[in-house]
Amino acid sequence: MTPEDYRKHGHELVDWIADYLENTSDYPVRAQVKPGDIARLIPDQVPEKGEPFEDIFTDFKNQIMPGITHWQHPRFFAFFPSNASVPSQLAEMLMAGLGTNAMLWETSPAATELEERMMSWLKSLMLLPSDWSGVIQDTASSATFVACLMARERATRGAANEAGLMGQKSLSIYCSAEAHSSIEKAIKMAGMGRLSIRSVPVSDLGSMRPSKLRQMIHSDKAKGILPVMIIATVGGTGTGTMDPLRDIGEIAGAEDIFMHVDAAWAGSAMLCPEFRPMLDGIELADSYVFNPHKWMLTNFDCTVHFVRDKDALLRTLAINPAYLQTREGDEVTDFRDWGLQLGRRFRALKLWFVLRSYGAEAIRDFIRTHVAWAQRLALIVEASPNFELTSPVNLSLFSFRYQPEGWSDDAIDILNDKLILAVNDDGRTYLTRTLVGGRPVIRFQIGHIRTTWEDVEIAWEAVKELAESIC
Ligand code: PLP
Repeated sequence: MTPEDYRKHGHELVDWIADYLENTSDYPVRAQVKPGDIARLIPDQVPEKGEPFEDIFTDFKNQIMPGITHWQHPRFFAFFPSNASVPSQLAEMLMAGLGTNAMLWETSPAATELEERMMSWLKSLMLLPSDWSGVIQDTASSATFVACLMARERATRGAANEAGLMGQKSLSIYCSAEAHSSIEKAIKMAGMGRLSIRSVPVSDLGSMRPSKLRQMIHSDKAKGILPVMIIATVGGTGTGTMDPLRDIGEIAGAEDIFMHVDAAWAGSAMLCPEFRPMLDGIELADSYVFNPHKWMLTNFDCTVHFVRDKDALLRTLAINPAYLQTREGDEVTDFRDWGLQLGRRFRALKLWFVLRSYGAEAIRDFIRTHVAWAQRLALIVEASPNFELTSPVNLSLFSFRYQPEGWSDDAIDILNDKLILAVNDDGRTYLTRTLVGGRPVIRFQIGHIRTTWEDVEIAWEAVKELAESIC
């Protein structure tokens, strides 16, 4: 493609995206295709000869779009949102255009220095310890994996990296049953084994119980097991549960155990002073992750990972082949050794565009509005005959179930499983099923930049109407 072609097709694409963003609510939220519907449309083989952009773009519209679930839809209330705000999309476009690889300071000094500055902006905005070091990772899953490796190295005094885990004591890792599945995956990838995970009992509100945590650690130590880490969650995926960081952090300190805090979704709310107490005690943690790509208007992917001891991170991950050494050496930061990847995207540009375009106050307002709407909808659900709230509103997330009178628990469970399928097949909204007390419930989470209160009402009307129709 010539620069002229680029200009022409680039403008076409931007026009198409702008129209799409204006009209996203015309689409069903979740893709309405069946498995294999899209694959059938794509030829088995790579074309030998290049095809015109027009043909590719036409096929994108006709063949790919029907298989898209619309994360940009204002009635996307499933999982957590992926807010691809326009400033972050524009930064993403520049990133792609520059093709930057931010692995070393030298491979783009601006990428490294902007990333460092964005990390210090976020520390001061969210009242995080000023001596922490931060880095942008792709996802919370990667950051949690890095934290697991750091914890493993601290507990084994660097022996695991050198000789592996053979011959080491049995290990133990503590988190609650509300912790995200990425934790189990990270522990398995770190070679520490799924069986090392201890599920710490929780309170009625789903928070980790510190007294149980302490008992479990003592009991493991008495058996000669080596405690490696505690993972606390702020804003659990299922129902937004919050672990008490200060109590957990004090135990971690007293028992000399690495502490990682996963606030992948809720972390963005820490911009608001009224929600910041949820992070009380965070300074006791060794590692902390949250995802601006969830609730801070930055398009996927962009995860922020802070660590208390940067040297421990580098001791865990650094490898120094000749071809990666540069003249500046320790004078500069080379982010290549702060995460899994060597090559790294220039994600700081997205944060910079977002934070400057909106300013902190507008992002705070956006988060507060979602929290207020979730509280308002929860009251409506609670007051609706045949519905019951199954968890409190945590920030902008709560869960509920359809519970018509006279039905047995088993029948109600089957009904709610049917209801979530009916809601998502209907297309007016998209919600996620989870379990509370082992029983199926429906999550409602508000977090999209283009959502209005009217969208929330449309979604709720759809749930009510479909609930009646499936009975
Ligand atoms: N932790 C929590 C609490 C989450 O809710 C999620 C995803 O929803 C993750 C971790 C994983 O996030 P990522 O997709 O960035 O790996």
